[in-house]
Amino acid sequence: MEKTAKITFCGGTGSVTGANFLLEVDGKKILIDCGLTQGMNLADNINWDPFPYESKEIDILFITHAHVDHLGRVPKLLHEGFRGKIYSTKPTKSLALPMLLDTTGILCKNTDLGLDKIYTEENVKLALSLWEGFDYHQKLTITPDLEVSFLNAGHILGSAMIKFVYNGKSILFTGDLGNSPSMILPDTEKITGIDYLIMESVYGDRNHESKDDRRKFLEATIEDNYKRKGTLVIPVFSLERSQELLFELNNLVENKRVPVMPIFLDSPLAIRLTEVFKQYKSYLNENAQHAMKSDKYLFDFPGLHNTLKSEESKMINDVPNPKIVIAGSGMSTGGRIVHHERHYLPDPNNTLLLTGYQVVGSPGRLIQEGLKTVRITGEDVIIRAHIVTILGYSGHKDSDGLLSFVEDTQETVKKVFVVMGEPKSAMFLVQKLRDNLGIDASAPELGQSIVLPC
Ligand SMILES: [Zn+2]
Repeated sequence: MEKTAKITFCGGTGSVTGANFLLEVDGKKILIDCGLTQGMNLADNINWDPFPYESKEIDILFITHAHVDHLGRVPKLLHEGFRGKIYSTKPTKSLALPMLLDTTGILCKNTDLGLDKIYTEENVKLALSLWEGFDYHQKLTITPDLEVSFLNAGHILGSAMIKFVYNGKSILFTGDLGNSPSMILPDTEKITGIDYLIMESVYGDRNHESKDDRRKFLEATIEDNYKRKGTLVIPVFSLERSQELLFELNNLVENKRVPVMPIFLDSPLAIRLTEVFKQYKSYLNENAQHAMKSDKYLFDFPGLHNTLKSEESKMINDVPNPKIVIAGSGMSTGGRIVHHERHYLPDPNNTLLLTGYQVVGSPGRLIQEGLKTVRITGEDVIIRAHIVTILGYSGHKDSDGLLSFVEDTQETVKKVFVVMGEPKSAMFLVQKLRDNLGIDASAPELGQSIVLPC
């Protein structure tokens, strides 16, 4: 009988978020990621539709990395009876606990949709009990004909591409691909010998500013804010962007490139996640490992205050300007940033600095697009503050980066499936792969299944 692998695109098509792919191969049902679809809120209602597969029948769930749009529906999968194995790299497993607890803490409040029954601490504990962490390149034998390994994606700590080799054919799921070189992570591994590629396309249609420019912009933004005696508000994703920004600020402050002023990391989740980074020094790049030797308080420097408790957070308002406040969530859909935005954005002396991806419809995106009044978690906020966007801090490869990533395996690749991007971005990348590399590329639709000869 002819050997095949079947992929069903159950989430993460036509959208950056909600990654969820079903791979049926050699009698096994395997999921790659089980993320939340996010837009206006931490979780859109579409997340609560039934999965298009029987959760009980899934043998293994692979998690590419610890962002919520890749693992946020794990509690729902368990609630529906999944009792298989969860596999990821070791740091991803360690990061998953604070990420899932944080998500649970927010979603369990939604009793109308019964999320309090799904997003429970018991389900998070259960997930961790089924979870096994592996090193990059460690080979897992799933069946005599099916082998799996994790390759470094360079996107966040522990992020992995997942490579399945079945009957000599390679299928690679990229997860999210890092904007290498990163300040703290090793570069995305070069891939070769891949037959089928399922790849992200967040910035499929755009290129980033150069990395030198972004540091100059950050420096200039901080200096401007200092001169205006304002508050610089920076919404950040707790995972990775916070740590990269701290690393960058650490450099700027210690090299006296910017004036000293109080900097608040007002995110309990980011503070907890930073602790995990300290545990996995060997997963950081040489530059960061070296910096950690000479500066043992990397992610910690003069002027930085970690505000874990909410009383401490409230006191930030009383600290005289100029100052910097870093808080989550990164797209202003919730978290402590919301209070700071309500307080600081109506004042023209203040600045809002956006450094991360802002999903369509999110308050962050609306502010970025220049709206003068934006509804932030149920309250209209008048925007008079300066709005600055620095795209160079993106954790994703840009359009040229994605193309050269595929170029390395151009010789062998038979099909590329472009996912995890807004439709415009995915289609642009599809066209670029066809035109520039002559590759058979397509952007699958939600629910579509594809059978691949192996
Ligand atoms: Zn990610």
